[in-house]
Amino acid sequence: MGEPGKDQTGGSAVGSDRYSRQELFARIGPEGQRRLRGKHAFVLGAGALGTGNAELLVRAGVGRLTIVDRDYVEWSNLQRQQLYEEADARDRLPKAAAAQRRLQRLNGDVDVRGVVADVGPAELEELASGADVLIDATDNFDARLLLNDFAVRQRLPWVYGACVGSYGTTLTIIPGETPCLSCLLESVPLGGATCDTVGVIAPVVQMVVAYQGAAALKLLVGDSEALNRKLISFDLWSNQHTAIDVSRMKRPGCPTCGEHPTYPHLQPEQQTRTAVLCGRDTVQLRPPAGAVRRDLAELARALRRLGADVQANEFLVSFTAGSHRLVVFADGRALVHGTKDVAEARSLYHKYLG
Ligand SMILES: [Zn+2]
Repeated sequence: MGEPGKDQTGGSAVGSDRYSRQELFARIGPEGQRRLRGKHAFVLGAGALGTGNAELLVRAGVGRLTIVDRDYVEWSNLQRQQLYEEADARDRLPKAAAAQRRLQRLNGDVDVRGVVADVGPAELEELASGADVLIDATDNFDARLLLNDFAVRQRLPWVYGACVGSYGTTLTIIPGETPCLSCLLESVPLGGATCDTVGVIAPVVQMVVAYQGAAALKLLVGDSEALNRKLISFDLWSNQHTAIDVSRMKRPGCPTCGEHPTYPHLQPEQQTRTAVLCGRDTVQLRPPAGAVRRDLAELARALRRLGADVQANEFLVSFTAGSHRLVVFADGRALVHGTKDVAEARSLYHKYLG
């Protein structure tokens, strides 16, 4: 997806003072910086938390960063999703593509990979296996529980983060050490469990990113002793901040990290083919496994012949159908905007896309 950015400083950052302020920080030092250079961070989601975490880690000099997202940039994202600009919204560029381009410009030394995909167990297996840290930057609990199952099964540390309104929350989960997300679900209030559209303010995003980013840096430079093992939550508007000790909340019967794990969210039947997107008047339809890729140029031509208002780029075709708008990706996946009704979305899909 695009050419890697060139380093405008005239060569590799190795030996330059690019990371000098980070190396002067004693708990990282030149040795920590070298370790960071050899590490792979996986960021699930390229919204507000994803763009913030990715920028922080790429500027810090992580060796490799993978960022995955299923959506494209919209105007309502620009208030807080820091890697995007107006042209990205105008062009409806997929977030993963826009993020990759911007991140590569910020640091040409990092191996950045942006992947446009809806993530299920198979995608996680392919993209995140062997990563050194997994960052939760999703907006829904289905995705978080999937990430939790995957991380615990692969024994990879992951950093939960969520924000809604002026409220944010975060926790670092170390498989085999701390309780996992499933352990906590029934006992502590976790933010982000709602799909209500109550909005969100950017400072909350930045604060969650600060906690997640610090946790990721500690893990990647090998200073896990310094990790904050408490469940942090705060409200920046009502000026509240709490840190809950969750160390004794690990449940022996937990389906993910307990004595007899079943990893329920990694089971194939959990992979729904349709989903009403969180907090949005949108239904996502996924093609059956093994479906052929769409020829987007041909699709755009056919829709224009039908008189549809079509906008296309190399990643997607967007068109209006009455009061609805459909967006089709190359893998055949479609977003149907203007409805929460799966049957209605399916019928529109078949009418225009066969
Ligand atoms: Zn658990």
